Amino acid sequence: MSSTSPRINLLDYDPAALEAFFVEMGEKPFRARQVLPWLHQRFCDDISQMSDLSKVVRDKLAAVAEIRLPRVLRDTTSSDGARKWLFEAGAENAVEAVYLPEDDRGTLCISTQAGCMMDCAFCATGQQGFNRNLSTSEIVGQLWVANRTLLAEGFNAPWIEAGRPPITNVVLMGMGEPLANFKNVVAALQLFLSDHAYGLSRRRVTLSTSGVVPMIDALREACPVALAVSLHAPDDALRDRLMPINRRHPLADLMAACRRYLDKAPRDFITFEYLLLADVNDALAQAAALVELVRDVPCKFNLIPFNPFPDASFLAPTRERTLAFQRVLMDANIVTTIRKTRGEDIDAACGQLAGQVRNRVRYRMSDVPHRATNAPHELRRSHGSHAKHSAT
Ligand code: SAH
Ligand code: SF4
Repeated sequence: MSSTSPRINLLDYDPAALEAFFVEMGEKPFRARQVLPWLHQRFCDDISQMSDLSKVVRDKLAAVAEIRLPRVLRDTTSSDGARKWLFEAGAENAVEAVYLPEDDRGTLCISTQAGCMMDCAFCATGQQGFNRNLSTSEIVGQLWVANRTLLAEGFNAPWIEAGRPPITNVVLMGMGEPLANFKNVVAALQLFLSDHAYGLSRRRVTLSTSGVVPMIDALREACPVALAVSLHAPDDALRDRLMPINRRHPLADLMAACRRYLDKAPRDFITFEYLLLADVNDALAQAAALVELVRDVPCKFNLIPFNPFPDASFLAPTRERTLAFQRVLMDANIVTTIRKTRGEDIDAACGQLAGQVRNRVRYRMSDVPHRATNAPHELRRSHGSHAKHSAT
């Protein structure tokens, strides 16, 4: 490596890649198992402190590598205990992560992209457009910073095991579509699961997707963690309008992919997230249609009342309607929870994460032609400001 080229970031490597890196350096692969706990369990950000490596190895490593973390731009705590970090993501972009302490666990909701190209009509992130994929270190760095900050502050809760970090669960439900940033997301997942790094069980790591069917299959092969699928409509006509990805991968294909995923999933059910939008998808007949749709997919439902954001063109349903919708699913023996909204006062609730997305390239998923046409299903790429989206 020339002296002018930037050093590699050790946080970009999953366990296998770190082994390969050491071999390339002329070192033994087991160095990776020595270094990973320094990085991801002791939250060390200085190679010179890795005291079980000889000085010669540390110097050799420091000549080509460093530990670079995403910079925290803002750190806000909600009156209900939710906490949101805004991380710099280069070129005036910023992404958000949200910590949700609960009675029996601490969950971090992390982002995978600066913006999102999926263009869902009800989502603040989608309305921002897309800038770029986050690197592995930018994804893992959110967990690193949150854990280290909480540890340094002496955060304590009964469910934190001695010597373990305070974040017990990770959900990929922040900004972005994780399956559209597959390689970096899978590398981050490998670190979340590795016993030499965060050591979380597959059941405690949940990836949420809008339904990128081929990549659901790829995830099943590469790294099957718990899967949540954003459904939000019981039929293709409505889902096409709310979620343009459906025009490419309609519901029948999505249901089949969910069934295939269950062969390798760490849980024996898929979680379907269903956002409730007043007078759009919250009719009881639509709940009954959902029961039919998922008949062959072992699943649970998580109903999410719509969280408003500036210029949103939807309304949240009433509590009565939400409960009645839940009742239809429960009566069909589908376990159905209603997501508690948290962090509203700091804009940290589901769908409210806007971060900051600049210089966005608009890969307009909503430009994907409907299935009825035979036009090529290529995403069109356009620059500039985002035309206001209408869901109808
Ligand atoms: N891109 C992935 C994960 C991030 S979005 C996905 O779409 O699944 C996480 C969840 O928040 C999704 O279920 C999404 O549909 C939901 N969501 C988006 N906008 C929302 C809003 N305004 N109110 C409530 N939930 C919203
Ligand atoms: Fe992207 Fe998910 Fe928002 Fe859709 S709901 S725009 S896929 S982040």
